[in-house]
Amino acid sequence: MDDASQPYTAPAVPETAPPPGPTLLVKIFGKDKPGITAGLFDTLAAYGVDVVDIEQVVTRGRMVLCALVTVPPGGSSAEGELRATVHSWAESIKMQAEIISGVGDNRPRRTGRSHVTVLGHPLTAESTAAIAARITALGGNIDRIFRLAKYPVTAVELTISGAPTDQLRTALAMEAAHRGIDVAVVSAGLHRRAQRLVVMDVDSTLIQDEVIELFAAHAGCEAEVAAVTAAAMRGELDFEQSLHARVALLAGLDESVVDKVRAEVRLTPGARTLIRTLKRLGYQVGVVSGGFTQVTDELKERLGLDFASANTLEIVNGKLTGRVIGEVVDRAGKARLLRRFAGEAGVPLSQTVAIGDGANDLDMLNTAGLGVAFNAKPLVREAAHTAVNVPFLDTVLYLLGITREEVEAADLHVES
Ligand SMILES: [Mg+2]
Repeated sequence: MDDASQPYTAPAVPETAPPPGPTLLVKIFGKDKPGITAGLFDTLAAYGVDVVDIEQVVTRGRMVLCALVTVPPGGSSAEGELRATVHSWAESIKMQAEIISGVGDNRPRRTGRSHVTVLGHPLTAESTAAIAARITALGGNIDRIFRLAKYPVTAVELTISGAPTDQLRTALAMEAAHRGIDVAVVSAGLHRRAQRLVVMDVDSTLIQDEVIELFAAHAGCEAEVAAVTAAAMRGELDFEQSLHARVALLAGLDESVVDKVRAEVRLTPGARTLIRTLKRLGYQVGVVSGGFTQVTDELKERLGLDFASANTLEIVNGKLTGRVIGEVVDRAGKARLLRRFAGEAGVPLSQTVAIGDGANDLDMLNTAGLGVAFNAKPLVREAAHTAVNVPFLDTVLYLLGITREEVEAADLHVES
């Protein structure tokens, strides 16, 4: 066949799919070992069949290999011979085989496709049953399931068809809250793989602390600051008023405190992994904060972020004045900054992800293509698309369909 003088002519491809003909589903299962796929297709090759579909899974060393192939030319005697040969080959390598006759391909997957990520710590059989029952109740079908991660949480991804994504999201969010697990629902499509922008809140999201409280501790006014925060939470003050009231309490503090506060900031577990992995995948990453540029600029530098915006503490003659400079980053401001970063990054809003924990993150969470409430207050959790309630920021990667193995492989690749 290796005739260089003869130019290769591709076989004519029909414009429409041919009518479904008879097919054989060949299922091989047993202890996984190298060479099974090669062995099966070697065996089948002798009968001149074509491959329609192949799927394989390996779970704790046990494999299931399914091959959907056309029936062999030569009628029932050829098919009988194929069956006998496959069974004796399987026996020879201590595997089991099952061959089922049928017609055509898999049922076409229905429209209304979504990816559902389920995070459990642990993930119980009871929770899994409840999630699956909700999907069925909405007319959805689970087309595929695979594990994304076993550490620090058990994360599985389900591909669903036949159920509207928004209804699925609402129903599964209720079930997740009831079961104490996290579930994220995103519609399937190419956008999930397109380059994206992730924008995070800082206080109690990227870091474990509230920066104003760290400053307050140095000024000896923690109790007063906490009282203003509580008043804002009760709705007696809006964010901007509460910011001015709290910053005023810091007046006279020496600017050397800025370095001390920077050193005290504790990143949330998984923050570095999240950012490092996103950057390697070509994502742009930014932070928006109702806190202070004196801290966020240093985080941007240290973590290699693309964007950072926050309020700026005014410092005159080496002392904090108790005022902030410029436009205040508040609830509306955070959403505005997400739009601005998206514009600068050249990423449509539908391909942005926002992560935050507070009420002032809600506009941003609802403006993004995917808004993730991270260990948030119940009010924020209920209003966001998706909630993560385990204290590991890198679990957001699983919501994007990135597996733990991919995260670890990327680390090895860069280190070697
Ligand atoms: Mg926050």
